[in-house]
Order: sequence, then structure tokens, then C-alpha cells
Amino acid sequence: MKLIDTMYEEMGIDLKVIELINSAEESIKKNFEKINTIAEYNQLKVLKAFQKNRLSDKHFNWNTGYGYDDIGRETLERVFSDIFNTEDAIVRPLIVNGTHALTLALTGILRPGDTMLSITGKPYDTLEDVIGISNKKGQGSLIEYGIKYKEVKLTDNGFFDKKNILNQIDNSTKMIYIQRSSGYSFRKALTIDEIKSIIIHIRNIKNDVIVMVDNCYGEFLDYKEPTDVGVDIMAGSLIKNPGGGLALSGGYIVGKKDLIELISFKLTSPGIGKECGLMFGQSRSIFQGLFMAPTVVSGALKGAVLCSKVYNDLGFKVSPMPDDNRSDIIQSIVLEDSSRVIEFCKGIQEASPVDSFVTPIPWDMPGYNSEVIMAAGAFVQGSSIELSADAPIKEPYIVYFQGGLTYEHSKFGVLKSLNALVNKNLITI
Ligand SMILES: *Cc1c(COP(=O)(O)O)cnc(C)c1O
Repeated sequence: MKLIDTMYEEMGIDLKVIELINSAEESIKKNFEKINTIAEYNQLKVLKAFQKNRLSDKHFNWNTGYGYDDIGRETLERVFSDIFNTEDAIVRPLIVNGTHALTLALTGILRPGDTMLSITGKPYDTLEDVIGISNKKGQGSLIEYGIKYKEVKLTDNGFFDKKNILNQIDNSTKMIYIQRSSGYSFRKALTIDEIKSIIIHIRNIKNDVIVMVDNCYGEFLDYKEPTDVGVDIMAGSLIKNPGGGLALSGGYIVGKKDLIELISFKLTSPGIGKECGLMFGQSRSIFQGLFMAPTVVSGALKGAVLCSKVYNDLGFKVSPMPDDNRSDIIQSIVLEDSSRVIEFCKGIQEASPVDSFVTPIPWDMPGYNSEVIMAAGAFVQGSSIELSADAPIKEPYIVYFQGGLTYEHSKFGVLKSLNALVNKNLITI
């Protein structure tokens, strides 16, 4: 037996599971080559921005008090705008998550009487309170401030509903909102080409509309980013792709200079904007995480493709399919049964470097209408660029698999999940 297989056996994996997954891996080598080339390109894109901005040791220091003239922070923001091909950027550890970054962008730009038109249907769950379409009142949502909200669903095949979108645009339409990633719905993420094409149609009707993208989970998936194809403002989380697993917290917003300025007045205060705010010593790890991000993302992506291939071959519905072009790192699998979902998640937890001894159980998480199970044993809490899986316990019992700081670890997650299912006789191989 090969040394590696002995090792897998010592880690509790059945020989049959190892063989099945190794042969699945063999059959998707072509997909991996494509992912590697994109990672190589993005590594150079990041490196080029670092070199152009003459990154140096002095940028890793930080200020106190108001934080005026923090050269590390200013350089970091220039590097982000170079990578994303925008005029300006806000990158801060004190943006607490992706929702916060998106909220700053929305509240910074939109004014009473403006309409926000989401063209990817209902946005990510946490945005419902922000917009004011959940049943909670009195929290200062956009709608409470007199901003109007409309949405156009994607078509049944998961594409932009062009006709309906163009019909919904009128004089009050200030912003078009696009969520690139599938989030937690069973659809494909929207590709850069799809985003590019819809923006061209929209601009033909209303040239001055502001196009905003929620880029969470999408960074470094492709040669281009949404801001390369006509998007005006875009936001994401540093504990997902662009933090490369090293950023401890934070979010970014990139886009047009005038919009970034408006948003910066929400970030701090009107008149003060992005001139103030401390980095609390996080500049170096954010830079280093960004440097690692293209490789880290490619590892997670290869793990997702492997997961897709393995479960699809076993007869389960998966999204995306193994050969699909990907625009985010999420892999969903329809497991059709609650005990399968639970065992899958237990397997992922057991594969973790941190808290591998913990057993995840479904619980009534606030804001969800069914029990939810989450598996993650991460160095940075809640970081979903690290190996994780989660699922609402409801039909059709879809589990969402994502992340892995290295491909090897993401593969181990796939091995452990299948092993758990096979051991409990929930799947026969
Ligand atoms: C993660 C995510 C968000 C923001 O979530 P946070 O937990 O606040 O970081 C928003 N949209 C999408 C599509 C996401 O995946």
C-alpha cells in the first residue's frame, strides 16, 4: 500500500472511499489545470499591485488616535483599487463583515426617493433587515429612510431576466444591485460575462444608473472581476476569499471615486471620510492574506470541483456541476435526507485542524425558519474561506460545502464526509 493511503487509513478513512475519491480526482485533472492558470494570473495581478505601490516594511506599522496619514492603510487601499481596477477603495479591519461592507455602500449612496432594483432576486439573508423586507421594524432600514426597493428574480435556469429587468427600470432607479454568488440558494453564481452583458443592456436604457455588486465568495475566481466590466461599486468580506485566511476581520469596498467618498462619509462622518481610522496592527496580515488569496482560492475551488464530481457520480444533484464554469467557491449537494446532511457535516467537522473533536448539531438559529447545522473548525471564527459546511434542516436537504486553505485539506474534507456517510450506511459505494 502507498504511504499516503496508509496515512489516510490512520486518519480513519476506508480504503474503498480513498480509491473512489482518487479516481474521481484523476478524472478532473483538466478542470484543475484551468483553475491553476487563473490562480497564476491572479497571483501576478496581486504582485504587480504590490510592486507598483512599492510595498515596504514601513507599511506594516500603524498609527494611534485619529489615524491620519497611515501610510500602510493608504497603500492597502491603493493596492485594492489597482487589483480591482477601480478609482478608489476602502479596506478596513473595523468593517465587521460582508454585510457591514454592503450596508455602508447602500446607505452611503442611496437617498430618500431613490429606488434600488435587485436583479438577482432576493439578496443574501442578512440584507433583508438592511433593506427592510424582513418583518422587523424600527431598525433604520433603507425602506424606513424612504428608499424604495424592487426586485426581479432570475429565470428558472438561473440567468438574468433581461426583459423584466429593462421593464422595471424607471426615472427613480438609482441603483441596480447584483449578487454574484449563489449565496445559499440552489443556483449557479453569475459569471463575469453574464454581468458584463446585462450591464450593457441596462446602460442602453439608463446610462447613469449605479451598478453595485455583492462580490462575496467571488474574488479571484476568474481573470476579471465585476469591476473590470462596468460595475461602479462592489463590496466583499476579508474573512472570505480576499483575506486568504490570514485577515482576522474586515471588509472592502472598491469603485468610483465619488461613490467611495459618499460611502466614506457613512464609514466615519461627513467631512471626515476615509482620512481617519486605525488599522490596529492588521495591515501586514491583510497584505499577506491578499498575497496568498489567489492560491488559497484555487485550492478551495479544486476541493469544490472534487466534491461536485464525487457526489454527482454517486447520483446526487449538485450545483455547480463538475465541468461548469465557476464564479464562486460554494458547492451545493442535494442529499435528500436529514441524516445524510448531519453526517456530512460531522465528517467536515472531524476533518478540521481546530475543534475536530466537536460534534455539530442542528439548532434554531435566529433569523432562520428551520433548524440549521454548521460545521467549521477554523483559525478565524466564521471564516468561510476555511473548510466549512452548513445546511438548513429542511427539504430537499441541501448541504453547502466551501473553503479549505489548501486543496489537500479541502480534499480531506470530501474524504471525511463521504467516509462518514458510508460508515453509517447512508450511502453505498
Ligand atoms: C457571506 C456573504 C455575505 C455577507 O455575509 P457576512 O456573514 O456578513 O460576511 C453577503 N452576500 C453573500 C453572497 C455572501 O456569501
